[in-house]
Amino acid sequence: GFFGGIGASSRKGILVKGGNFLEGLNDVKYVIMDKTGTLTKGEFEITDIQSTPEFNNEELLELAAYAETHSSHPIAVSIKEHYGKEIDERRIDEYNDLSGHGVQAVVDGKEILAGNAKLMAKYGIPFKEVEEVGTVVYLAIEGAYAGYLLIADTIKEDAAEGIALMKEKGVEHIIMLTGDSKAVAEAVGSKLGIDEIHSELLPQDKVEKMEEIMVRKNKKEKVAFVGDGINDTPVLARSDIGIAMGGLGSDAAIEAADIVIMDDKPSKIGTAMQVAKDTRQIVW
Ligand code: ADP
Ligand code: MG
Repeated sequence: GFFGGIGASSRKGILVKGGNFLEGLNDVKYVIMDKTGTLTKGEFEITDIQSTPEFNNEELLELAAYAETHSSHPIAVSIKEHYGKEIDERRIDEYNDLSGHGVQAVVDGKEILAGNAKLMAKYGIPFKEVEEVGTVVYLAIEGAYAGYLLIADTIKEDAAEGIALMKEKGVEHIIMLTGDSKAVAEAVGSKLGIDEIHSELLPQDKVEKMEEIMVRKNKKEKVAFVGDGINDTPVLARSDIGIAMGGLGSDAAIEAADIVIMDDKPSKIGTAMQVAKDTRQIVW
């Protein structure tokens, strides 16, 4: 029965935490997906740095890397990697993670803000919004706008296959929830044939959207959420079936999830749905 299904799943790199979750996959009609780290690799590459005349690009990158030192967000990881030099933690006096916005830190005694347009607006920093496709990390130093880093993520190779497989297994609505900009969200979503895209969401907005979807569906239908858990553990916990990307995912997400995809491949959700179907046929 479902124990066999759990074993079959685990051999395919899918950790299922109970037979009820495998069985539940058969009734999933809505799949809600996070973008960064779930549909995209979450490995950002820095494609451009533009500082204001008061600074230079090297300084801007260094301050960004220092401000992001204590963040585990994929954006932070890529900035630190691009910077490449060792971090002297004594230069960092303060660090605050401002989820859905970016970070605030005190580096060399100066207040640094690194994050999206929402972060700049929140602190009342005058700046000009950048019209480029890609995720923009704006920087402010001591309350003055200092420039931006432009970064690009790539769609996972099997993301489109994953979407197609889920539809084949009876999923009717595939919805993307992301904190990223509308331009980036739509570029990714339209390439993958996502049915519904909601962008520029704060973590609490994601929970709210999830609640809206919960009332849209009928009683028998189930809602699955797929995420890497960076900022989305509350939605993961609220869904009928929470699926976490195990490789990139945070420990909290792996713990909160009902199903863990060990190799982070979106196509494995389709695989799990197939195992669920086969297992149901054996049981009944
Ligand atoms: P997603 O829904 O795409 O996973 P998040 O909720 O993790 O996005 O983040 C939303 C947005 O907040 C990011 O696209 C980015 O603009 C900004 N952001 C979050 N964390 C950071 C960070 N550490 N540094 C810079 N920007 C960040
Ligand atoms: Mg995320």
